[in-house]
Amino acid sequence: MRLLIVGPQGAGKGTQAELLCQKLGIPHVSTGDLFRANISAGTELGQRAQTYMRAGQLVPDSVTEDMVADRLCQDDAAHGYLLDGFPRTLAQAQWLNELLTTRGETLDKVVLITAPDEVLMGRMLGRGRADDTPEAIATRLELYRSETEPLVEFYGDLVVEIDGVGDVHDIHDRVMNRIGAAEGSATNTPEAGTR
Ligand code: AMP
Repeated sequence: MRLLIVGPQGAGKGTQAELLCQKLGIPHVSTGDLFRANISAGTELGQRAQTYMRAGQLVPDSVTEDMVADRLCQDDAAHGYLLDGFPRTLAQAQWLNELLTTRGETLDKVVLITAPDEVLMGRMLGRGRADDTPEAIATRLELYRSETEPLVEFYGDLVVEIDGVGDVHDIHDRVMNRIGAAEGSATNTPEAGTR
């Protein structure tokens, strides 16, 4: 299955992404995680990304897109993946469509996790990540509203909206049901056979 998960920071997107990937046996392709791994490893890519990340700004498309294209060429992404944190803008979504066309692939679903602003803020402040300064949080939230939310319209019927408030496992069950991958679901059978 090829999925994209979208949602504002603090909606629980990362947690749901992990649970989905474990359940479906697909790699979690998170651009934020890939950047952070590059920063920890001291790579040139990490150095280029770091300044933008600290400010809560987007890393330039050329850097991000090359990294995504490389990641999707790895063997574990041959039969499915979950994209998390990419695309984040309409331009990136258009670039992804072209990449998918050359790969002969389409996305099966776009999972949108939502939560009210006060829930989002509370969760982020409790997270304690290095780039979670109040300024960076505010910038990322604004960027989400202006740059990422338009993806919901772009992906149209592919989008399934999930309420991200509540118990983590209940939310996971909601996601599985809505993407047609819940246990016993007929749509799960052909995909399961390909892995
Ligand atoms: P995240 O872990 O998804 O919150 O991403 C952390 C940071 O990585 C973001 O604030 C951006 O600086 C950078 N980043 C992640 N994904 C992208 C993307 N698709 N385009 C540009 N920058 C990104």
